[in-house]
Amino acid sequence: MKLKEGVRIYGIRSELVLALIVCEDVYNEVGTDLVVTSIIDGMHSSGSLHYTGSAVDLRIRNLPQGRAEAVRDEIAERLGGDFDVVLEADHLHLEFQPKTAYERS
Ligand SMILES: [Zn+2]
Repeated sequence: MKLKEGVRIYGIRSELVLALIVCEDVYNEVGTDLVVTSIIDGMHSSGSLHYTGSAVDLRIRNLPQGRAEAVRDEIAERLGGDFDVVLEADHLHLEFQPKTAYERS
């Protein structure tokens, strides 16, 4: 895994560190190095989870031709419903956004 030059990591949520480990596994399984292209840096929509360190963007142009959707699906499957994995035109956007309350067991 590597960070694109200029990527700022300050304040990244620990949940995303775990997610990046999973992403690296999935990328490596298709023979691609994982490159993080944005965390809290860059221009994102108003209210974006990037600004609170709860979202990351991943490079997709280095994935094997036609595999981006399968990689997205595999990451989403491994991480479960508390993460949103969105395939954008030129990157994979991953955010931590729990939708239901946690129950203690
Ligand atoms: Zn993003």
